[in-house]
Amino acid sequence: MNLKNLRSEVLVQNTKNLIKEETRILAKVLAHFAEIEARKLYLELGYGSLYLFAVKELGYSEASAQRRIEAMRFLKKTPEAQSMVEKGNLNLSRLSLLERVTKEAKATHAQNVEALNFLQAETTSTSKSELRLREFFKLQSKKRVVTIEMDEETYELWQKTKAELGEVKDACALKKLCESQVKKTQTKMRQSPNARTAGKVLRRELLKAAEHRCQYVGPINSQRCNNRQFLQCDHKIPHFLGGETTQQNMRILCQQHNLLVYQELKSKNLF
Ligand SMILES: [Zn+2]
Repeated sequence: MNLKNLRSEVLVQNTKNLIKEETRILAKVLAHFAEIEARKLYLELGYGSLYLFAVKELGYSEASAQRRIEAMRFLKKTPEAQSMVEKGNLNLSRLSLLERVTKEAKATHAQNVEALNFLQAETTSTSKSELRLREFFKLQSKKRVVTIEMDEETYELWQKTKAELGEVKDACALKKLCESQVKKTQTKMRQSPNARTAGKVLRRELLKAAEHRCQYVGPINSQRCNNRQFLQCDHKIPHFLGGETTQQNMRILCQQHNLLVYQELKSKNLF
C-alpha cells in the first residue's frame, strides 16, 4: 500500500472510509463477544471468564479486553445503541464509559437510553464526559488515591492475583479480594445459636467483654469475683432449657462459680 502518491483529499476520504469500516467491524466483534458470553463458550475453552478468554485466547491487552466487554454489556442491555455504533457515532471508549457509569448507578433501561442521548450531545473529551455523566446520575465522583510502594516480588504476586480474580483494574481487584476476605471472616464468625458450646470467635468476644475476668456477682453483697483463672463460658439460661449460645445469653465464669451456678440450678430441681 503506497500512500505517498495519493492526493490529499483522497487520503482523507480513504481514512474516513476505513474508520467507517473499523466501526462496522467493532459492532461485529462486540456481537460475537455477546454470543460467546451467552454460550459461556470461554468456560468450555478452559477460561474462568470472558475477560480471561479475551486476554489469553484472543490476545487483547487487558485494558482493550475490558473496554470491549464493557461495551458489549452496554449494547446488550441497550439495543438502541446498536445503530449508533454501526454508523460510527458511538465509539468504544464512550460505550465502555456508559457501561461503567450506568452499572454503578444501577440505571434502569429508560435511564440507559437517557444516558445514551445525554452522551450523544456531549462533544467534550471522554474524561470530561465521564464527569458530566456522573453528575447526571448524581454519583459521587470523589475518589481516593492510594499509592502503594511494593517490591518486585509483591508486585508480581499482585498481578497474578488480579489475573486470578479476573480483574484488570487495581481498585476492582482489591475490592473483590477484600469482599471475599470479609465474607470469609463473617462465615467464620457466624455462630449457630443452637450450638451447645461457644465457638472460638464467640469465646474470644465473651472474654473480651468480661475483660478476661469471672463475671459472677454475689447476690447478697454484689461483689464481683474477677478471678482470672480457669475461665469458662456459661449459659445464663442453660442450653438444655432452651438458652441460646449467643453473646446476650452467655457470660464468663471461673470454674468454681460455674460449678456453683450448676449446683444452684440442680437444687432447684431444674434437671
Ligand atoms: Zn468466679
